[in-house]
Amino acid sequence: MEAKTRFRLAICGGGIGGLTLAAVIHKYYKDDIQVDLYEAKDKFSEIGAGISLWRGPWSIMQLLGLDKALEGIIAGPPEETPRVRFSFRRGDQVDESYTFHEAIMTHGPITMHRTDMLNILVDNLPSNFRTHFNKRLSSYSEDSSGAINLFFSDGSCAEADVLVGADGINSATRKAMYLSLENAAESEDSKHLASFAEARWTGTYAYRTIVDTKLLLEKAPGHRLASTPVIYLGKDKHIVSFPISRGQSLNLIGFVTVAEGEGAEHEGPFVKEVAVDEMIENYNSTWEPEIRQLMSVQCVKRSSRWAIHHVRNLPQYASGRVVLMGDAAHGMTTHLGAGAAQAIEDAFILGRILAHERTNVENIEAALKVYDNVRRPIANAMVERSWNTGLLYEFSVAPGGGSWSGVEPSSAEGLRMIAGGIDDAWSWQSSDLPQDDWLRAEEQLLRHICSQASTDGGAIVTDN
Ligand SMILES: Cc1cc2nc3c(=O)[nH]c(=O)nc-3n(C[C@H](O)[C@H](O)[C@H](O)COP(=O)(O)OP(=O)(O)OC[C@H]3O[C@@H](n4cnc5c(N)ncnc54)[C@H](O)[C@@H]3O)c2cc1C
Repeated sequence: MEAKTRFRLAICGGGIGGLTLAAVIHKYYKDDIQVDLYEAKDKFSEIGAGISLWRGPWSIMQLLGLDKALEGIIAGPPEETPRVRFSFRRGDQVDESYTFHEAIMTHGPITMHRTDMLNILVDNLPSNFRTHFNKRLSSYSEDSSGAINLFFSDGSCAEADVLVGADGINSATRKAMYLSLENAAESEDSKHLASFAEARWTGTYAYRTIVDTKLLLEKAPGHRLASTPVIYLGKDKHIVSFPISRGQSLNLIGFVTVAEGEGAEHEGPFVKEVAVDEMIENYNSTWEPEIRQLMSVQCVKRSSRWAIHHVRNLPQYASGRVVLMGDAAHGMTTHLGAGAAQAIEDAFILGRILAHERTNVENIEAALKVYDNVRRPIANAMVERSWNTGLLYEFSVAPGGGSWSGVEPSSAEGLRMIAGGIDDAWSWQSSDLPQDDWLRAEEQLLRHICSQASTDGGAIVTDN
């Protein structure tokens, strides 16, 4: 007998977050949700760059049965032994620098090419989930029956019972949600809600490129970056490099922060192909010899420039039957390599709540509040932690976000303090597993469902 459809779900955005959500629902549901996935582009695609996963998201990939496929594309096997995962050097000095800190982590990073990861998620999409390309959501409205009307930029419309905005940092879902929340707000205190509609520029550009390791070693035999993940720190600039594609390439990102840029409106596209010279000239003459060598041996063939934006302290991820996840909810700086990890953890909790056999159109709003209650404090805190880590790498704040109180950040004492701050910042990757968060979410969900069954409309009890 065919299962009765509990609700119609629209997922807007087929990036890592939206596709992982589809995988979680497929794994845990009983064929009783109608799923439509709307993607703005003409196919699922990612930019050509690396990505790191950690223990938490990796454990989700294991639960989804995707770990075996991923093992074929990662730079090295996942390990659970304390090991140096990143070396830290001061980069912005002309003379040879030294490694002032080695961050020892028990887990990860598990690094891979983003396109390879996306392809595995796409291959896993079940055939009964309908995918719609060239469908860019422009807005939505909720009608009196509770149904959501989706409006696309090509003039077409669709209807769903639940809308998940997995549409990235420039989320149209978030814009529509927060403009509508402000319009509906009665108190003066809520009249600032529209300010959450847009992501804010952090003032930082990230120049991303992939370097062919073989070519690097031909041109610069024994170069440190061929085998070692390194973060080079400097005033208002830093560089991150780590091997991907089983060590055949390096993911190289050069960060440059513009004075007065934070919070300013960024002019021009978020992502732009740029001449490699624009990246190289930031580091070429004033950085330590191994960086100058890397930049001068024509290993950097092409580069894109990303204006790094973030979405800070969103006061709610869910409104009515609409919910945000991934970068749409908490787009963050890249300094802890945690954005995709957080999107995957959102997908796990949200997907399990939606797939839960007792979630239905009557209790969906409360169910989405459970997701908000469990995920928002964790992900919002990560946005702040990640931003502060970037400021620390660029000597702008002392560990903990405070001032340097007379200590020169690039001095031996300053670097010792930074080393402590780095260990603290990265300790998140061995924190609770998402399965623990799911236990909390399920307990809240069931508590709500039981109280609703006994009172027919009991309010959800939250932990915070
Ligand atoms: C330079 C850089 C380096 C990074 N490195 C790491 C890392 O090492 N580790 C890590 O965990 N994270 C990293 N991140 C962050 C990570 O890329 C993001 O957090 C992650 O991709 C978020 O996934 P998402 O699915 O929420 O959004 P996205 O990946 O942005 O996907 C959104 C999808 O929605 C589609 N879309 C957009 N608008 C609409 C619309 N209106 N209607 C329909 N579809 C729409 C898009 O086409 C896209 O397919 C990095 C980010 C940057 C910028």
